[in-house]
Amino acid sequence: MNDCIFCKIAAGEIPANKIYEDDKILCFHDLNPQAPVHALIIPKNHVAGLSDLEDAPSEDLGHILKKIPEICDLLGLTGDDGFRFVANCGVNAGQTVFHLHFHLLGGRMFTWPPG
Ligand code: 5GP
Ligand code: ZN
Repeated sequence: MNDCIFCKIAAGEIPANKIYEDDKILCFHDLNPQAPVHALIIPKNHVAGLSDLEDAPSEDLGHILKKIPEICDLLGLTGDDGFRFVANCGVNAGQTVFHLHFHLLGGRMFTWPPG
C-alpha cells in the first residue's frame, strides 16, 4: 500500500534490522524498543489492523503464530522466563502504525494489567 511504512519495510524500500523473513511474514527489531528484546512481526500483505482481518489471508495469521517459537529461539527468548506477544488495535490501545503488527517483547518483567 502506498505510504505504509511497514509495506515499504516488507518490500525492502526502507531498511530494517531483520530477524526472520519468509514469503509471508517479516520480523524485525522495533526502532524504539520498550524492552531488552522488542521485535515486530508483520504479514507482508497489507492489512490495517486486528479490526480488518477479513481483508487478510488467514494463512498469514496462522503462520505468524506458528513461527513464534522459532523467532523466540532466534531472539534468545528461551527457557522459562517467557515473553509478551501483543497487538495494539486502534486509538485507545495506542496503535500508531496502521499495518497489522504484533509486538514480541522479552528480557524483563512485565506488569499485568498493562497501563
Ligand atoms: P504501535 O504503537 O502501532 O502498536 O507500534 C508501532 C511500533 O512501530 C512502535 O513500537 C514503533 O517504535 C515502531 N516503528 C515505527 N516506525 C518504525 C520504523 O520505521 N522501523 C521500525 N523498525 N520500527 C518502527
Ligand atoms: Zn502496509
